[in-house]
Amino acid sequence: MTDQTAIQISGAGPAGLAAALAAVKSGRQAVVFEKRADVGGRFHGDFQGLENWTTDVDVLDELGSLGVEAGFDYTPFNEVVCFSPNGASRLFRSTQTLFYLIRRGNQPGCLDAALKKQVLDAGVEVRFSEPLKHLPQGGIVTQGPRRADAIAVGYLFETDMADGAYAVISDRLAAKGYAYLLVCGGRGTLASCLFSDFHNEKRYLEKCVEFFKDKVGVHMINPRHFGGAGNFSIPSSARKGNILYAGESAGFQDPLFGFGIRWAILSGAAAGRALAAEDPGSYEHFWKQRLRAYHQTAATNRWFFERLGDRGYEYVIGKFKEGRDVRTWMKKSYAPRLWKRAWYHAVASRRTKPILSVHEGCDCTWCRCQHHNAKA
Ligand SMILES: Cc1cc2nc3c(=O)[nH]c(=O)nc-3n(C[C@H](O)[C@H](O)[C@H](O)COP(=O)(O)OP(=O)(O)OC[C@H]3O[C@@H](n4cnc5c(N)ncnc54)[C@H](O)[C@@H]3O)c2cc1C
Repeated sequence: MTDQTAIQISGAGPAGLAAALAAVKSGRQAVVFEKRADVGGRFHGDFQGLENWTTDVDVLDELGSLGVEAGFDYTPFNEVVCFSPNGASRLFRSTQTLFYLIRRGNQPGCLDAALKKQVLDAGVEVRFSEPLKHLPQGGIVTQGPRRADAIAVGYLFETDMADGAYAVISDRLAAKGYAYLLVCGGRGTLASCLFSDFHNEKRYLEKCVEFFKDKVGVHMINPRHFGGAGNFSIPSSARKGNILYAGESAGFQDPLFGFGIRWAILSGAAAGRALAAEDPGSYEHFWKQRLRAYHQTAATNRWFFERLGDRGYEYVIGKFKEGRDVRTWMKKSYAPRLWKRAWYHAVASRRTKPILSVHEGCDCTWCRCQHHNAKA
């Protein structure tokens, strides 16, 4: 039987599972409701990158400090071969890990499966195939994306290629985004990540396959189609009374390139801790301190990125001197800067409207329910 004082969490993605773990570690029981039959249902074993460039602290150490164990398979990557629109390549290399390659889904070794095991071992109750749409006693909403600000379409496959990470920035292959090919241990993921022109996703993907065949001889065995969407925006508040929003449900995801796992786990854990301490206000303080300035900077970076076009990408990639440490370069680009925040407020914030508009007095997890209008 469910403990009536248990913190209720809607959504068993990285944010929700991290929230449950943090609650339990803070001495409160937690119950997670997941609408699908298992964790990681949005994903299919595809490779994703756990970014390791925004802070000096290694991301795995940061997660460890929150009690999140690296019980999933991960491979550190220090280099990426980056192609410019005209097909010229540059090796972007770093002395430290640039990102950890991980897999998403419910199979053994995937991030989601490992987090599920950790929360179950910690005594959290996870109720699968049970969507949760109302939280009258309060709780945490971690239901993932609400709209598509960006989409990814691609293939998962087996391969005899050597391990490697490749990216290409070209509007011909991925409108306002980038395409990537990740190969590790005989598995591969190839995708076009679009921030515009979603309707032509098939055409972009075909061109990406041709491109990677030509440039690196990609050899896909048993290719399976996959795809997904993501959203990002900064809410004015991620709290509605005792209901806290974390991960993509709140809009917490890097708007420049769509890296969201780290912020999902960080925000989920902070929400779990805040409710366990019966101090929901501390969650607002946390994300405004830890995430907001990064988010605003990345949104400004995106504003400029979208205006570069192929000639601009060519210039920026060409300007990068081989031998320069790419992690240091990325860290500098993502570091909060006063002028980027000012630019965000003046210009870049207009690109995406917040997905969250929280109205007090409503217990639904989805705050576009128009409940406040109906009552008026
Ligand atoms: C194709 C693709 C590639 C990506 N690549 C990267 C990458 O390389 N690096 C990176 O950092 N990020 C990447 N991202 C983004 C990253 O996957 C997300 O930011 C991250 O998964 C967000 O975690 P979350 O817990 O907020 O949401 P999710 O992982 O979406 O989890 C939400 C969960 O809530 C459940 N749910 C929804 N509604 C309800 C409801 N009413 N009741 C109960 N449960 C509900 C869903 O079924 C789901 O299990 C990628 C995303 C996509 C789509």
